[in-house]
Amino acid sequence: MRELSATAVQSAVAAMVIDANCRISPHVLQQMEHCRAEEEQPLAASILGRIIENDRLAAERCVPMCQDTGMAVFRVQLGQELHITGGSLEAAIQEGVRQGYREGYLRKSVVADPVFHRDNTGDNTPAVIYYELTEGDRLTLTFAPKGFGSENMSAVKMLKPADGAEGVKAFVLDAVRHAGPNPCPPIVVGVGIGGTFEKCAQLSKFALMRELDSHHPLPEYRDMEQELLAAINRMDIGPAGLGGRTSALAVHIETFPTHIAGLPVAVNICCHAYRHSTVTL
Ligand code: SF4
Repeated sequence: MRELSATAVQSAVAAMVIDANCRISPHVLQQMEHCRAEEEQPLAASILGRIIENDRLAAERCVPMCQDTGMAVFRVQLGQELHITGGSLEAAIQEGVRQGYREGYLRKSVVADPVFHRDNTGDNTPAVIYYELTEGDRLTLTFAPKGFGSENMSAVKMLKPADGAEGVKAFVLDAVRHAGPNPCPPIVVGVGIGGTFEKCAQLSKFALMRELDSHHPLPEYRDMEQELLAAINRMDIGPAGLGGRTSALAVHIETFPTHIAGLPVAVNICCHAYRHSTVTL
């Protein structure tokens, strides 16, 4: 059994919290550059240029690319041959979030009670953490700071099996059309299909933790990703919602087996600040 200290986990989390908030992936920048070159509307091209400049400056100066530094969401893949020593894994992650948001001067956006009191917890905890047990002796942490301008535009629907691929596409496009300019476009659309009510929502979240240029492994879903992306980019939402052909940078679909009587679908949207960071310890 391999051992890993809780302190090492905390330090890694604190570093990735700052890194994800300040440094956008090169793939996102490349895609936005490509979209800017293709834009026919000068205003849309200009807005994309501003976003690119903003993201470059954020990385250079190690400051957040957006004032909304999000609610901390983690996907944790824990090898069953790994033993965390000197404290619990959960406490180490939450303490790392506290440390990262404090040391990075990142905005604290979490309220303790969702309805009645809404007092800020003051340290951006608790993080939302999804645990998975895996083979091996490694710990892989993926962190995404989720801004709520886009999170608020999420949707889930229990379709009928007979709705099929056309029903799935209509639901995704309705959700994006309804979101309009609110999720700070150009967006990335995460789609979870299958499982149960909550499983498809989790899949749609994990879809937003993939590299921008990744695709579903099956050709049918890869084609659906491309078809949806093209349809969204014909909606004329555009960068910042002011029109143009760059409404979305990517559509990512994740799938899971489901019940014979159902077809759950969830849509989770991310803004142009497509931020996440992964480390393996
Ligand atoms: S949705 Fe994204 S870009 Fe818009 S304010 Fe929130 S984090 Fe920033």
